[in-house]
Amino acid sequence: MKKIAISMLLILTMVVGILAGCTNSTPAPAPTKEADNNTTDVLVIGGGGAGLVASITAAENGAKVILVEKMPAVGGNTIISATGITASDTKLHEAAGRPFTKEEHFKKTMETSKDLADEKLVKLLVDSSNDAYEWLLTLGLKYKLDPKDAFWIIPEEGHYGALLVKAYQAEAAKYPNIDLRVETKATELVVENDKVVGAKVTGKDGKEQIIKAKSVILATGGLNNAPEMIAEFNPKYAGVNTEMTTPGATGDGIKMAQAIGAQLKDMEHFQMRPLSLNGYWFKEVIVNEEGKGGILVNKDAKRFVDETLKPLDLASEILKQQDKMAYVVIDSDVFATKDGAKMIDKAKGVKADTIEDLAKQLGLDPAALKATIDEYNAKNDAFGRKTFGKVATAPFYGAITKPSSHYTMGGVAINENAQVLDKDGNAIEGLYAAGEIVGGLYGAGRVAGNNTLDDIVFGKIAAKHAIGK
Ligand code: ADP
Repeated sequence: MKKIAISMLLILTMVVGILAGCTNSTPAPAPTKEADNNTTDVLVIGGGGAGLVASITAAENGAKVILVEKMPAVGGNTIISATGITASDTKLHEAAGRPFTKEEHFKKTMETSKDLADEKLVKLLVDSSNDAYEWLLTLGLKYKLDPKDAFWIIPEEGHYGALLVKAYQAEAAKYPNIDLRVETKATELVVENDKVVGAKVTGKDGKEQIIKAKSVILATGGLNNAPEMIAEFNPKYAGVNTEMTTPGATGDGIKMAQAIGAQLKDMEHFQMRPLSLNGYWFKEVIVNEEGKGGILVNKDAKRFVDETLKPLDLASEILKQQDKMAYVVIDSDVFATKDGAKMIDKAKGVKADTIEDLAKQLGLDPAALKATIDEYNAKNDAFGRKTFGKVATAPFYGAITKPSSHYTMGGVAINENAQVLDKDGNAIEGLYAAGEIVGGLYGAGRVAGNNTLDDIVFGKIAAKHAIGK
């Protein structure tokens, strides 16, 4: 079929060439097979949530799509999204009699952003959230309301991100007009006469090619796996670890857009998980709960911080310690909680009947750790901690923990059509962005679950505008 389509196209091109020859003495050369393969209506860069949604949307509207993904498989950080989607005024809310209204959704998103978010984009996100949720149902996904928080919509069962990406892949596979190329990395945007007309990509074979497109949609995610870029945009997080990201999140789209004069927004803001290891996030309650929480110590077995600080500050204090890490030390009361047990399990922590033995197993000085814990239990604190826990009931547990970046708030500025803006606020012709690469949507903080929502909302908006729908 494909061969026939290509031959038809060649014939058509020759006919056009001949007709053109009637008015022009030099006939245009027929395009090579490679040039034809590398010409498309829409080039989508990045195959996470936003890129897959954008590709599906463009394809279902009849456009020819090339989707390039630099990793061997699609999914990006969307596939590790653990919990659910945030949407307001859905049938689920109505049926459960537990409202989460558009107004509440807007207010929560703005407040979490510290009022830095672009109100127009947030309004669009919120107003489209029910449609986005309903669309997920058409893909066969099944959800329920979170028992605790009405803003959360979670899978009836299974892992949220994995199921989401599986459903997107299955939907994308229905469209022969989506040409998915994995292990294909976009490296540079191609601009002609102030319009983005494609991108340079490097494929599996290491050869550089140019893909020509009427529009390009950047969906390359954030920069959680680019610690050097994070440090550049916010030195407070210099040396941050990459425990909570997939490898592809290296800010490529931001760099490519920046290179052609795109405007960046809110680049200093990140979501940090101060306590994480091996791909898991551990709740700060382990060390900050009043009456119960344990402590953090550094390689000298000394406390160095008020453990009840806000996550962003706690992360930056840990990053000032040797090897940019700390040890969590808790007693059996914390271990008896879900979060305590999870941390020791996932971070491969150790257990001991005495503090001295725990120290030995962690490679810390036993006398120093004992002294630190005695001080803490006596509520002697040099760091301004107002509420105390305790590390008193054996057995004791300890584990390494590292701060890592979990979400990039900043990114390229877009308008309500998802068109990327230049430094003067004008749309760059031919260039769109959707997903975590976008800046301005969350200001200084993100409501959990809004991110997979924005993949859908802005992925669809970008694709439709790109093809004039
Ligand atoms: P979002 O939620 O915004 O879709 P994800 O992290 O889920 O973000 O997906 C982004 C995807 O983009 C990842 O799969 C990543 O590997 C891919 N990607 C990043 N940079 C490039 C690039 N230069 N070329 C192709 N794909 C890229």
